[in-house]
Amino acid sequence: MTETTAPITQDVMTIPRKLPEGPMNIVGLTRDKLREVLIENGTPEKQAKMRVNQIWQWVYQWGVRDFAEMTNLSKAYRADLAERFVIEIPEMVSKQVSADGTRKYLARIAGGHEVEVVYIPESDRGTLCISSQVGCTLTCSFCHTGTQKLVRNLTAGEIVGQVMMARDDLDEWPEPGQGTGENGPRLLSNIVLMGMGEPLYNFENVRDAMKIAMDGEGISLSRRRITLSTSGVVPEIAKTAQEIGCMLAVSFHATTDEVRDKLVPINRKWNIETLLDALREYPKASNSERITFEYVMLKDVNDSDEDARRLVQLIKGIPAKINLIPFNEWPGAPHQRSDWDRIEAFADIVYKAGYASPIRTPRGEDIMAACGQLKSATERARKSRREVEAEAGMG
Ligand code: SF4
Repeated sequence: MTETTAPITQDVMTIPRKLPEGPMNIVGLTRDKLREVLIENGTPEKQAKMRVNQIWQWVYQWGVRDFAEMTNLSKAYRADLAERFVIEIPEMVSKQVSADGTRKYLARIAGGHEVEVVYIPESDRGTLCISSQVGCTLTCSFCHTGTQKLVRNLTAGEIVGQVMMARDDLDEWPEPGQGTGENGPRLLSNIVLMGMGEPLYNFENVRDAMKIAMDGEGISLSRRRITLSTSGVVPEIAKTAQEIGCMLAVSFHATTDEVRDKLVPINRKWNIETLLDALREYPKASNSERITFEYVMLKDVNDSDEDARRLVQLIKGIPAKINLIPFNEWPGAPHQRSDWDRIEAFADIVYKAGYASPIRTPRGEDIMAACGQLKSATERARKSRREVEAEAGMG
């Protein structure tokens, strides 16, 4: 197990956001922000709310990327919009499809950086695993992304844009005039913020993007079908309930501080006790909205019967479910997956203690799309992170 000395800094959360030069990309702007920029660019204030509704529907309900197609707007207004704004989402650079149907996309964003996005089809749902950072602020030892230094946060447009990119690939946009879901069952029905990056170290952009995804006049995904996974950024946990309202998952993975300090280094900043206290206070937790404790099964590291008993003891009183994740190996990984009978014995102890403890079926292993296997080639080059974020208009 590697000793990590990477500082767990705060500065990411305080970077002000400024929009780039040239035509503004409206993808990722909240309704209020869109209204503001329309008025700034000449839309009469009295009409602005209606224009926001109309544009919103074209972009987020019907997946239109060309103002000229927005036929309920006047030709002159459409032309004016096209002068001043663009409707851009990340570019799909590559797509790999696993034997089990899982799709892994490589998406290119501003500055030429790349992030990985994974679509997991199942009989009763289709889940998109999206990224919130290029690389990651943190260095969890079992995670491939953790070996990729943080390059920058994604903007709200680049986060919700991953959902739009996948819907394009799944050809899931209703025809203009059609309501969401009228064109058949939703292929992309769930979102998990479990891709590259720590979402709570990019709170504002993640919040705005998920608000857009939940908006009933657009992509219209229920908040209960969106799960944000955090490694334990305690100060931001309650805000997730208050400002996003989605489901919460925690990268827990260990039952002692000694082990969790190594597996999930943020534990040295907010240890198990502090994290559990925050989860006991989580405003949205209830028996119908349980917090998911993610637990990667690492051979001879955190998979003993004693660990299982300690785990159920620690989370007592928290409405919870436990997801056991057989470790998915990646080149150079310092861990091995627990033996299957060990995983089943662990699950049995947890189950007998009254917790649903499904063992997550590894998906997309043949294309390195399974949990913890994501990493893009983008490395933080010579440029400082401020320079890189300036490229994306966050500098
Ligand atoms: S598990 Fe999450 S927080 Fe930890 S290194 Fe990987 S992406 Fe970052």
